[in-house]
Amino acid sequence: MDTLTVDLAERSYPIHIGRGLLKEPGHFEALLKGRRAVIVTNETVAPLYLDTLKQTLAAVHDGPVEALILPDGEQYKNVDTLNRIYTFLLERRLDRSAMLIALGGGVIGDITGFAAATYLRGVDFIQVPTTLLSQVDSSVGGKTGVNHALGKNMIGAFHQPRLVVIDTDTLNTLPDRELSAGLAEVIKYGLIDDADFFVWLEEHLPRLLAREPEALAWAIHRSCADKARVVAQDERESGRRALLNLGHTFGHAIENGMGYGQWLHGEAVGAGMIMAAHLSRQMHWIDDDDLNRTTHLIQAARLPVAPPTGLSAERFKQIMAGDKKVLQGQLRLVLLQGIGTSVVTADFDPGALDNTLNALTR
Ligand code: NAD
Ligand code: MG
Repeated sequence: MDTLTVDLAERSYPIHIGRGLLKEPGHFEALLKGRRAVIVTNETVAPLYLDTLKQTLAAVHDGPVEALILPDGEQYKNVDTLNRIYTFLLERRLDRSAMLIALGGGVIGDITGFAAATYLRGVDFIQVPTTLLSQVDSSVGGKTGVNHALGKNMIGAFHQPRLVVIDTDTLNTLPDRELSAGLAEVIKYGLIDDADFFVWLEEHLPRLLAREPEALAWAIHRSCADKARVVAQDERESGRRALLNLGHTFGHAIENGMGYGQWLHGEAVGAGMIMAAHLSRQMHWIDDDDLNRTTHLIQAARLPVAPPTGLSAERFKQIMAGDKKVLQGQLRLVLLQGIGTSVVTADFDPGALDNTLNALTR
C-alpha cells in the first residue's frame, strides 16, 4: 500500500492506494469510532463490492453499517436523487457526527459528497472510488455536486473528503471503455505539467491496458499526486486549477453537441486534448513531434482522436461560447506550450481556432 496526502491545512487528508484495500479495516477505524456511517452506492457496484465493504467496516464500527443503493447513471445525478439521500438520513435520524461513504464511480462520489456538504450544514465523508476516472480525478479535490436540466454540475459545493481509499482490484470488473475513459484524465496530467509521467505513459501504456496491478497503482499514484499538488495551490479554482480542464472545453462541446451519454466524458476529453494540441500547434507553441506524440498516446489508450462526424465547426463555436470558462465574453482555453507545459489563455488567434475546427471536424 502507498499513501499520499492532499495538503490543505486543517482540511488535509490521506489517499491510500493498493490492492485489496476494501478488505482492510485499519484505514477506516479512526474515522468511524463512535459514529454512525452510511454507505451510498449504486445498483451496479453494490453486487460487486458492497458486502465486502460492509464486512470490513463492521470490524471497526459498532452497530450495523447501513447502505443506500441508488440507480446507476449520470441521469440520476440530480436533486431528486439527492433528496432520496437526505430522506434516508433524516428517517434514520443521523446527526452531525454521521459519516457518509461513497462507494462507486464519479457519479456516486459527486452526489454523496454534495449530500455530505449540505446535510445538517455539513457532515464528513469518505471516498471509495471504483472507476479509474474517479480514482485519478473526481475523488480528489473536493468538487461535489449534481446536474441541473440546464447544465452539468451546475449545483454544487467544495467539500473535501476526510479520506480516499483506492482499491485497485476494483478495476478488474470495469468495462474496457470505462478504463480508457479514465486513461484520458491520466494522460491529461502528463500533458499539463508532468513531462516525465508522459514519457512513462508512452512506455507503459500497454501494461495499463492489460490492467497490471503495479502499473495501475503507479499511474493512479502519480495522477493523484499531480492533481493534489494543483488543488493544494488553488483549492477553489481562481487560477492554476483551471489547467485541469485541458481538452475539456472542446470535450464538453462534443458531449453537449452529441447529447450527453453518447460519448463517455473521457472519450470526449481524449478528442478534446487533440483539438487543444492541434490549436497549440497552429499557434506555433508546440512542434509536430509534440502533436504526434500526444495523438499517438491518446490513440494507444483506445480513445477517439477526432470529434464525431456531424458536429460542425459552427456548432462547436456556438456551444463553446456558453462554456463556464468564458469570462466577460472571452473564451479561455487550456493550451500547450510543450509536453508537460500548459497555460490557460484567451490570447490565441481566432483564425487559428477556425483552422483547427475546420481541419478536425467532419
Ligand atoms: P460513473 O460513476 O457513471 O461510473 C461509470 C460506470 O461504471 C457506471 O455504470 C458505474 O456503475 C460503473 N462502475 C463503477 N465502478 C465499477 C466497477 N468497479 N466495476 C464495474 N463497473 C463499475 O462514471 P465515472 O466516469 O466514474 O465518473 C463520471 C462522473 O464524475 C461525472 O458525473 C463527472 O461529472 C464526475 N466528475 C467529477 C469530478 C470532480 O472533481 N468532482 C471530476 C471528474 C468527473
Ligand atoms: Mg474530466
